[in-house]
Amino acid sequence: MRADGVIVMQGNTDADFIHEAAHGYQHLVGEIELIQGGEKKAKYVDLGDERRAYQRQYMFKPSSVTGLRGKHSIHDFLDITDSWVESLKDRNGKTPYEGSSYENLRKR
Ligand SMILES: [Zn+2]
Repeated sequence: MRADGVIVMQGNTDADFIHEAAHGYQHLVGEIELIQGGEKKAKYVDLGDERRAYQRQYMFKPSSVTGLRGKHSIHDFLDITDSWVESLKDRNGKTPYEGSSYENLRKR
């Protein structure tokens, strides 16, 4: 969220924006709190918030999720679980969602 309160969503693909729009909605209904003036930062984001964002992304474009590196392959949106989200590895082999909750919303 910019310092003026405008929510800025960044991504490379439409599927990325579907994911980020899910977080925007979560902010509007009070499930997470985007930090004013804190780019890519939010409070109270937990694995369930990320699971719902990835499920929504999957329903829009399955291949945008099935190619991600999680502990099992995804064949249905119900395969996207909290523990799958937690197991996701980024391109550097790190697990940005490890831990049940975290303060800083990573890129995804
Ligand atoms: Zn996310």
